[in-house]
Amino acid sequence: MTRRATKRGPARTSLDGTRVDVLVCGASFAGLAVARELAGAGADVLVVDRYEIGERATSACAAPTPWLHAMGVERSIRQELPFMTFTTPHGSVRYRLPWSWAAFDYRELCELLWEQCGEVRFETATVEGRGVDGAAANGGSSLPAEGLTVRTDRGTLHARFVVDALGWKRVLASRHYQPPDAPLSRGLEVHPHVTGSDDALDVWVERSIVRRGYGWRVPDGGEARVGVGSYDPRRHVKEPTVALARRLEVDPVRYQGNWFPHRLRPAAQDGVFYVGDSAGHCFALSGEGIRTAFYFGIACGRELGAALAGERRPEEALRRYASFSAAHARAFGLALRLQRVIPALPPRMLTLALRAMGSSQPMIDRSFGWYLDQAHPSFAQRPAVERPVPVAA
Ligand SMILES: Cc1cc2nc3c(=O)[nH]c(=O)nc-3n(C[C@H](O)[C@H](O)[C@H](O)COP(=O)(O)OP(=O)(O)OC[C@H]3O[C@@H](n4cnc5c(N)ncnc54)[C@H](O)[C@@H]3O)c2cc1C
Repeated sequence: MTRRATKRGPARTSLDGTRVDVLVCGASFAGLAVARELAGAGADVLVVDRYEIGERATSACAAPTPWLHAMGVERSIRQELPFMTFTTPHGSVRYRLPWSWAAFDYRELCELLWEQCGEVRFETATVEGRGVDGAAANGGSSLPAEGLTVRTDRGTLHARFVVDALGWKRVLASRHYQPPDAPLSRGLEVHPHVTGSDDALDVWVERSIVRRGYGWRVPDGGEARVGVGSYDPRRHVKEPTVALARRLEVDPVRYQGNWFPHRLRPAAQDGVFYVGDSAGHCFALSGEGIRTAFYFGIACGRELGAALAGERRPEEALRRYASFSAAHARAFGLALRLQRVIPALPPRMLTLALRAMGSSQPMIDRSFGWYLDQAHPSFAQRPAVERPVPVAA
């Protein structure tokens, strides 16, 4: 169960007028990855979130195991899942992946990331939007020496650099993303207690469950995360989630849901760095956005580190980070095309395609190897100075 720990009453003192080098808004996967990268940078870095760190889980919490090792958070792993099953109305296939998924504990993962953030500070505050500053006015073409301003429920904060890691809404942008018209998917899951030891992440692609989307089950030892995602934000997912839970004979209890983006967005705008869901760094089709939040969070943190060290001008850091993100447009675009094509395939054809792939381990290895390569965990380990930064054509 979620425990509310957010500071209330007198503990919520005013932060008005606070000035820092870097303000990271959002303390989930993306924000903590940025902050972790800035540990030891000798800068004054403040992370804010409306909740305490790790207080509110935001996903089914399955990520490639190698990424959790690369981020030094392997202690949060509850169960490793070396297999995936795909079920259609015409049968099931089971793949052994070239790498495994890991179901992890959200609170523990966030705390382990936070332990690596060194001198970075944290405050609970709800971010309301941008304040009036030079960069907001000039579109971020130059960053004002006095910094950017961000309005929160605890006052206005000022920072040389501002990161929006606040999720799908893109709170600090002049235009927010708002369902149902925005390119967003929606997901809902339940967290029943289960017994037994499954070793697969299960996926259902069945129109009777959801017309354009998929169902999932992520076992994590004592609990399972059973949910449904719809690529169409207008479709409600509560009924399908309950139906899938009943079909799997588990209780539809402990609900958790959210929107998630399925289209890449500009990663820098009006002087702000956008990371994770706020930049659309969530793969369409799979709805996988944790490792990409780590990956682009690291990239953002490294650019900020270089700017803080005086190795780049702030505008250059923004431009390089935006280019790095945009250089991945092909992979994100392909995922979006597949998200459109796969639900339209006749179910028998989809079943045959899944079976054909399942009959060839080299094909499974190549496909899932390519998928992991699009945001590979080795990126977390390479020293910043040796890292090539791809620049969009
Ligand atoms: C039901 C569901 C299941 C999913 N399962 C998986 C999965 O198993 N694996 C996977 O890879 N992806 C999964 N995803 C997608 C994944 O959750 C997101 O892509 C990922 O959480 C993005 O990380 P983030 O740090 O960018 O944003 P978030 O995790 O959304 O974090 C945003 C943070 O900002 C804070 N915040 C938001 N607004 C404000 C505000 N105004 N003021 C202050 N703080 C604010 C929030 O409290 C939160 O801490 C799932 C999504 C859903 C909806």
